[in-house]
Amino acid sequence: MAEAGSFADRVKQQADIVRVVGEYVRLKKSGLNFTGLCPFHSEKTPSFSVSQTKQFYYCFGCGAGGDVFKFVMEMDKLPFPEAVRAVAEKCGIAIPRAKERTPEERKENQQRTSIVEMHREAAAFFVLQLNTTPEGRAAKGYLLDRGLDAEAMARFGIGFAPSGGEALLRTIRQKYPENALETSGLFSRDQSGRFYDRFRRRVMFPIANDSGKIVAFGGRALGDDLPKYLNSPETPIYTKSNILYHLDRAKEALRQRDFAVLVEGYMDAISVARAGITNVVASCGTSLTEPQVKLLNRFTHRIIVNYDPDTAGQTATERSLTILLEQGAEVRVLALPGGKDPDSFIRSEGAAAYTKLLNEAPPYVDYLISRARKMDMSTGEGKLRAVNFLMPYVQRIPDRILRSEWATRIAQQLRIEEPVLRESIRKAASERRGEVKARPELVGRVGKPAERRLVLMLIEGEEFRSRLAQDIRAEELHRGLESERVLEVLVEACASGTRPDAATLAMALEERDRRLLFEIAFESGAPPTWEEAESCLTVLRRRRAEEELSVVQKEIESLAAAAGAGAGSELRRLLERKQELRRKLDPPAPQSPV
Ligand SMILES: [Zn+2]
Repeated sequence: MAEAGSFADRVKQQADIVRVVGEYVRLKKSGLNFTGLCPFHSEKTPSFSVSQTKQFYYCFGCGAGGDVFKFVMEMDKLPFPEAVRAVAEKCGIAIPRAKERTPEERKENQQRTSIVEMHREAAAFFVLQLNTTPEGRAAKGYLLDRGLDAEAMARFGIGFAPSGGEALLRTIRQKYPENALETSGLFSRDQSGRFYDRFRRRVMFPIANDSGKIVAFGGRALGDDLPKYLNSPETPIYTKSNILYHLDRAKEALRQRDFAVLVEGYMDAISVARAGITNVVASCGTSLTEPQVKLLNRFTHRIIVNYDPDTAGQTATERSLTILLEQGAEVRVLALPGGKDPDSFIRSEGAAAYTKLLNEAPPYVDYLISRARKMDMSTGEGKLRAVNFLMPYVQRIPDRILRSEWATRIAQQLRIEEPVLRESIRKAASERRGEVKARPELVGRVGKPAERRLVLMLIEGEEFRSRLAQDIRAEELHRGLESERVLEVLVEACASGTRPDAATLAMALEERDRRLLFEIAFESGAPPTWEEAESCLTVLRRRRAEEELSVVQKEIESLAAAAGAGAGSELRRLLERKQELRRKLDPPAPQSPV
């Protein structure tokens, strides 16, 4: 939020978070940090901490955290610009009279404008490709097969990115400065530094922000190319967690009908909209985020979640429920029969059948109870598991009367004596206030020691963080780790040469990762050294080689078992790879924090 060089940035540099927070919370010095009773949840022992060196706050109990502006925004319920002014006043920093524009801000604005324009041109280019080239017409055939007609393709701006690798680049490059090409997310660079099209041989779905400007693309592979879906990376005009697909076209209907249908993918959103339910939005690949819910809440508080019925979809549904409930949304859940997603259901059963089920979608608690009832309810432990599955959702209902009503429903449905259930809800609630015990369950010790140290080193390793970031990035060592996202944003920040600021980076993260980042940032220990960094990297490299070795070993075994003709050369390749990995792993493990 506080862009480099802006007034907000200057205020942030000069303000002292301890002094500002101290006006609201009685803080006590504790080691390097300050602690106090959290103003955002009720507690008797302090779990709220403020870091003076890193200028952020974090509550180990409820997870509230951020920089000085976030704190004032939350405490005084102010929008960002007002919070900046309030902090400036508290700290005696002169407030500029008019809206001040520094040269950097102007430059950034110009760049954003170019990138938006570039996306508009790219979208038109992709549409042209779909309609006029042989390759594009083949893609069109594929879309027709999936039930999209020409009218729908035009309506949703669907296009095609050709396979050549330079088609878009050639039409665009003359008109824009190199730095705009670089940051647009539309192009990648090869090893010799030459640009090429990021999207190749893909059906292209333009993704617009809520005011209708195209800010990104989702590309679906034709055939079996991987990945199946490729999205634009985050750019100056695109933050994935802030965008809902189709919101720009859904606004009117959302206001009029006062409910939203929330689906997973573009094809789902398009199908539902074509079925006449234009108040549909898609979270698009990510699990739902808090900013997305806040965005949606500007139009309606009533939401019907209709994710895929597979396991991933169920998990995504449950995760979305938590966020939606916390934001006070009124939620219903539609789980389509026959394991169908909205797109395939509408194609096989028709729009009327879909609309009917949508109207009958049960409130989320009924959905959750029916999920809980699928657990083994014949034993006491089974019932306890079911109650524990439901409890976190019940506790997130902000309204007490509603909460109590649901407790009655749950008791009836699960055949539990109501007083017993209420007692355990009360107990869970009071333990939640104590919080300390619940912490490891909530966040766990996510990430193994080497990962955690690397995160801390990227934050604190003043002299070597950019080198460390480069090493991690070059080998993609963070992939697949529990702290993958946290390392990713840190590496990105370090690589761009900025000093990573935990509070700012946290805003781009989802709840679990946000907590992880804050908690690691509060960890202390010996000051990091490059030697330690190297040994942590070695730990990750070894872990990866070990994983690959076990995969290779399995492949060798299954190949040897099959022993078909032609397996010889593949077997030889695998055996050689196995030798290679063994050699890598052979040197004794270094002294490391794992
Ligand atoms: Zn708290």
